[in-house]
Amino acid sequence: MLPLDATPAHGEAFAGYLHRIAALIETDPHSLYAHLRLRSAGRTVRYVHLALPDWHVRDVSRELGIEREQLEATLLRHFAGLDLGALTGTHADVAHRTVQRGQWLFLSGTRYCAPCLDEGRPWLNAWQLPWAFMCASHHVLLSGACSHCGRRPDLVARASSRSQGCTPERCACGHSWRDSPPGPAVGDGLTDLQRQLDGATEGRPEPLWGSVTGGRERLAAWRAAGAASARGTGMRPWARRPFLVPPTDPATMAEVVTRAAPILTAESMSTAADALGALFAERSGLGEAAIWNVFPRSSPLAPVARMWLRRSGRVHSRLARSQDQALPLVAVPMDRIPTLADPRWLPPRWRDVAVPDVTFRRVVVSLAVARLAGAGTWHTAGRALGLDGDYAARTVRHVLYRLGDPARSELTSAAQAYAAALNGASPVATRPHDLVRGVAALRACAHIEDRGLAARD
Ligand SMILES: [Zn+2]
Ligand SMILES: [Zn+2]
Repeated sequence: MLPLDATPAHGEAFAGYLHRIAALIETDPHSLYAHLRLRSAGRTVRYVHLALPDWHVRDVSRELGIEREQLEATLLRHFAGLDLGALTGTHADVAHRTVQRGQWLFLSGTRYCAPCLDEGRPWLNAWQLPWAFMCASHHVLLSGACSHCGRRPDLVARASSRSQGCTPERCACGHSWRDSPPGPAVGDGLTDLQRQLDGATEGRPEPLWGSVTGGRERLAAWRAAGAASARGTGMRPWARRPFLVPPTDPATMAEVVTRAAPILTAESMSTAADALGALFAERSGLGEAAIWNVFPRSSPLAPVARMWLRRSGRVHSRLARSQDQALPLVAVPMDRIPTLADPRWLPPRWRDVAVPDVTFRRVVVSLAVARLAGAGTWHTAGRALGLDGDYAARTVRHVLYRLGDPARSELTSAAQAYAAALNGASPVATRPHDLVRGVAALRACAHIEDRGLAARD
């Protein structure tokens, strides 16, 4: 046992604590790591950060003369909302990958609050979590990098080599953390979201969509919604696969949480489905396959996504919603809707574009009218107009995708205007003529755009 009496401070991180103890006994952290057998052969940085097994916790706490629970509180496994089970008793990289794929974790690196350190507070365990983006004491965003050299703080790094690393006082470049500017101020809304995330990482059961849910499930749902938010147009994804890699920058994390919040704070699964639809609505033509690419079907968010997909006829929720609102207003008999809309009723921006082919553009306006007239899905709308259902749905996705934003709202307005005109028009047998011409034209240009259609499927 070491000749000292030093219990960890409240909330202190293990790596920062070890630096502090090393200073107290006037040794370098490296020798302390060696003494505590934290850097034996094969033990990686991640071993200290994530995976200290029970026997080692027991040994280290005995060696340092502190209670085992006090040491446990400095480790990431203190957070009951995390699931580090796969790491128990092993430090193999494959286990780290398994755990990382199962949840958002930093395998190394940490964040910090400069005002906290300036006041002499310890390096906090919670700063090692991607979920912590702000300081509750100072109401500022945490910092994710050294303000001098841009390096990510990593207090554990020093365990694996003798080179100069970061300490709780300074960055490896020599810059003092406490000299860094504090992060931007944070308002009440974000503070409340941070509190909700803290509850989840602590493992507290709280309501999610109307039923009490464990912390792990809530974190998993936040993670899936956060990854989904990276698919919106307003945000640049922070990683190639956002679902697997959390944002390192606390400001990005705050933005992700803000965008995901309407889904996670919804009172019911039904309003959560609306919020998810609104999030995806920023990407025109995002197909079902793309949604399951964002997060897996096993995610707690999956039932919400399924509800939204079902409700939106697996196409576009905004159009579906405006259709709901407009339904009582249009009463066009299906047999009065031409297969190919009169080109004069195309949305203005759609009239002179080179792609997609004008036949596709016209048929999509007609399909939208059919939906306003009561067809629940693009599939049904297609069949009502004498087209193959699947083909009709693909055509709509293709046209919306090729025309980009704001093609959806343009289509809704044009279809409403056209439907009103058709409703007032005298019954003319336009459809049989158009059907023959339309189907032939669709077939003729299908082979040209087939690749595009397939790619959006
Ligand atoms: Zn602080
Ligand atoms: Zn630095």
